[in-house]
Amino acid sequence: MKKRKADALPHELRRSIDAARQELPIWAVRRAILEEVATSATLVLTGETGCGKTTQIPQFLLAAGYDARGIIAVTQPRRVAAMSVARRVAEEMAVEVGSRVGYSVRFDDCTSQATRIIYMTDGMLLRAAMQDPLLSRFSVLVVDEAHERSLQTDMILSIAKSVQAIRGGAHAAGGVGGAAVGSSAGALKLLVMSATLETDTFCEYFGCDRGPVQVQGRQHPVSLFYTSSPQDDYVEAAVTATLQLHMESLPGDILVFLTGQEDIEAAGHAIQQRAAVLPPEMDALEVHPLYAALPAPLQMAALDPPPAKTRKVILATNIAETSLTIEGVVYVIDAGLVKQRTYHPGKKIDSLLATPISKAAARQRAGRAGRQQPGECYRLYTEQTFRDLDATSRPEILRTSLASTILSLKALKVVDVLAFDFLSPPPRASIIAALEQLLALGALLPDGAISSEGEQMARLPLEPSYAKALLVAGEQGCCEQMLSLVAMLATDGSLFHSTSATRDAADDAKRRFTSPQGDTITMVNVFSSFGRKKGSTARAWCQKNFVNRRTVESAIQIRDQLRTSAIDLGLLKADDSFERDGGLAKSPVLDAAPVGNEMGRKLRRCLTAAFFMQAAQRQPNGEYLALSSRQVVSIHPSSVLFHRRATCVIFNELLFTSRLYMRDLTQIEADWLVELAPQYYASRSGLGSPG
Ligand code: ADP
Ligand code: MG
Repeated sequence: MKKRKADALPHELRRSIDAARQELPIWAVRRAILEEVATSATLVLTGETGCGKTTQIPQFLLAAGYDARGIIAVTQPRRVAAMSVARRVAEEMAVEVGSRVGYSVRFDDCTSQATRIIYMTDGMLLRAAMQDPLLSRFSVLVVDEAHERSLQTDMILSIAKSVQAIRGGAHAAGGVGGAAVGSSAGALKLLVMSATLETDTFCEYFGCDRGPVQVQGRQHPVSLFYTSSPQDDYVEAAVTATLQLHMESLPGDILVFLTGQEDIEAAGHAIQQRAAVLPPEMDALEVHPLYAALPAPLQMAALDPPPAKTRKVILATNIAETSLTIEGVVYVIDAGLVKQRTYHPGKKIDSLLATPISKAAARQRAGRAGRQQPGECYRLYTEQTFRDLDATSRPEILRTSLASTILSLKALKVVDVLAFDFLSPPPRASIIAALEQLLALGALLPDGAISSEGEQMARLPLEPSYAKALLVAGEQGCCEQMLSLVAMLATDGSLFHSTSATRDAADDAKRRFTSPQGDTITMVNVFSSFGRKKGSTARAWCQKNFVNRRTVESAIQIRDQLRTSAIDLGLLKADDSFERDGGLAKSPVLDAAPVGNEMGRKLRRCLTAAFFMQAAQRQPNGEYLALSSRQVVSIHPSSVLFHRRATCVIFNELLFTSRLYMRDLTQIEADWLVELAPQYYASRSGLGSPG
């Protein structure tokens, strides 16, 4: 009796899943796609979010036998997308994740011998290419979300192009390209998938004369609303709009696009506070944050349907723009901003600023409201602002520091990076600046080849200077502390929080951790004092100390991941003092005492050896001068060094608001620069000018 019931259910479920699959718009072009794949090396495919690209295409390829000569790899810009899509596809195929379908994201490999479809982050594919430059394990490479033009996606497309030149792209049964040239792996098929129609760049780059295959969407209409005047405070505007919708509109979940952890948390607090005083007979509001640094289980929770009589509000970054399917969204609120890394090669500044999105992104965001029924999108900006937006967003490669890209290319044994066939070539000046930085860091040899240290740095999931700091700390025996420090720097939220009402108490609390050695050392103090507290103990501790719990918890997560890499690189010995848990080398509970002078000095010297290009010195007139760019910079008021008159500091970040502010500072001694970075600072003139 029991058994029959258990069997009956999956069968029902199966039928409904199969039916739902075949109703997806992509099924209408299934044949056309397979024909195109059979005859051409590269296929560009566009289709609106939700039409079935990510979940269906790999299954079509599998059914057509493309797994016979290799694995079907599908790259995703984001970890959570790779994991959640793999789960969905496994469900559709009625197999376990990790069997025929699996995923591979950093520090979490869920694949086996039997795996034929792997969803992987683009970072993982790049690493695979470092081991196996011809990508010979793979028969088809599907590059998803190509419209985002992330740095890594762009690199993968370039690599795929050069691999096709060797392996060929045509089907094994002859045709263009010649499958046998130089490789026994057979042809590599490439599918470039995009949620937007702007695909000319891809078609031209790959010489796809026939243009993209377009999947017609089945989008419901979305009514657009604009504000009548520009909004100063978009978080407040988003909170107000959310509550108003909740009180006045028919059921349906609300998706709010904000920029990052900080404003998402602020909005979340405000919404919860105001929702708490609503009449009890109203539906409840359930608020979910959704951003990349959020632990994966919490990200997944944002995708789950809400309980009965509850409206779900998802406060998301552009992570929810195209790569995740969130059921039930009827209302979209769009602040019109995205946090973007922008690099200014002249100034050597890499800033992470909220910048206006593109028209294409605004349309994508609005589209999320019309997946299941007609929806509404509230743009927190004016119609004129919309008209002034750029048509598409600038490729990341044109707006980041190229140091890690160039280092990856060097690790991929690309000799002449200036001649590399980039999809959108970055300015020569940026490439040269990156080469210089890598040379100064010792990642490259004078002849331009990658050094063994550079190879180690390329294997760490960090910007080269952070990686360098870890390597040096490994040599100096302070790797555990440096891991905490780097992990804290890698989080994107603020560490302390306070309001005007709590400022004094917060300042008192902060003083307990404050180190005159700088913000970085202060961060280590907070981190080790927090330890591995969990649940209500963690909450109480954070409340008492005005520490942002999410920031510390995400640092713990980052640290665990980095620690695994550090052990793999031999920077730390794997011993019995920590548990391996889910592949991660969990940190031992560190000494909760504040960093002492001796250890602090060691850490600061390691930081100097890595961040010497980000040093500033106090001038006789009291101003600080950044030594590499010769710019006047100021200490950010939030720094623990704001009132201390340190002569020489290194900074982790330059922030341009009303002036150039240095953030996350470390006090150092000027002599160390010459001692630890003689290659950069001319030793004779002391700190006159960089060599
Ligand atoms: P695309 O890649 O074109 O945006 P997907 O292949 O991700 O589309 O999704 C196709 C459809 O599969 C969606 O419209 C949705 O109905 C369903 N789907 C995708 N992921 C999930 C999931 N995690 N849970 C439930 N349904 C999903
Ligand atoms: Mg998709």
